[in-house]
Amino acid sequence: MQGRVAVLKAYGGEFELREYPVPDPEPGAILIRLSRAGVCGSDLHIWRGEMKEIYGPLPRDLTFGHEMCGRVARLGTGVSVDSSGQPLHEGDRVAFVYFFPCGRCPVCLRGEMGSCPRKGRANRVAGTPPYFNNAYGDYYYLRPGAAVFRIPDEISDDIATPANCALAQVLYGLTRAGLRQGDTAVIQGAGGLGLNAVAVARDMGADRVIVLDRVAARLELARAFGADHALSLVDLATPERRIEAVMDLTEGFGADVVADFVGYPEVVPEGLRMLRGGGCYLEVGSIAPGNVFSYDATALVRGNARLVATSNYSPWALAQALAFVRRNLGRFPFERLVSHVFPLARITEAFQQADWMQRGGDGLRISRAALSMTD
Ligand SMILES: [Zn+2]
Ligand SMILES: [Zn+2]
Repeated sequence: MQGRVAVLKAYGGEFELREYPVPDPEPGAILIRLSRAGVCGSDLHIWRGEMKEIYGPLPRDLTFGHEMCGRVARLGTGVSVDSSGQPLHEGDRVAFVYFFPCGRCPVCLRGEMGSCPRKGRANRVAGTPPYFNNAYGDYYYLRPGAAVFRIPDEISDDIATPANCALAQVLYGLTRAGLRQGDTAVIQGAGGLGLNAVAVARDMGADRVIVLDRVAARLELARAFGADHALSLVDLATPERRIEAVMDLTEGFGADVVADFVGYPEVVPEGLRMLRGGGCYLEVGSIAPGNVFSYDATALVRGNARLVATSNYSPWALAQALAFVRRNLGRFPFERLVSHVFPLARITEAFQQADWMQRGGDGLRISRAALSMTD
């Protein structure tokens, strides 16, 4: 049996679909037949060549993708339950963690598994056994010991796909930032991460959620995801005006938590100035190397500011992410987060469209692209 894997030969270029033999899972592993994969902001950074420091000046048969879900195709011996203890059978739909904390180093033992220095990462050179190491393919080989959770029946594949990246990370980040019931949260950026952050902040009991973005349709969606105030960068053209707007909405004190989901460093100093004394700034957006910002450290000290940065998450956050979605299915329009679904064979087009959308190209049908392996 063979399965397809999408391979990138040139940054910003076309993908090529290659076929590789579908492996049998070793003891403890799970072979997953993928149904959906998301095109995440970080995947766009990789595709555009903005992660050359990591993947090299030329992509060498690069295969990637990390947001995904699918059905159990084969269980390795010894696997009979998911990470919540629910029975697991062939055909069950699952979401899973795409990086592999060691679970036994001092960092993991402190409960910060997303920061594990011995964390295993996906091999991104196409043709490396067991071949299905990333999301853009027909299968995924889940290594022994990886966290895996059954997807509740009520949650569709489209809605479940971003759970193992965007949603789990946002939930983990806001938890680490210490967001509490009654707080005011400012969310910088209403892309996939930011919209999830608005809804998670609401679910965590934030009293006021303020969101900032440039695109009107994203701001409208942010309101549907529970934002009380959606501030437009078009109307408020300078950082000064945006900071003033946040101060006006918080009786002059600033927000308890300000979170960056934009990914460009100039938003950081602006967001820091929106914090109340003792508030927490959560940095998530910057993932491409070289996002340098400048800020007066004395202002941080005088403001008793806390800074929290979050990449990846501890696996509990994925279980919580699925529970969050199930709890809020009727409340937030999760189905609107993915706006375009392409068959895997049209992955190049999916990236071109997603790139265009991310740069604000489509005023109405914004948000995210996803790939279907079953169409
Ligand atoms: Zn992602
Ligand atoms: Zn570790």
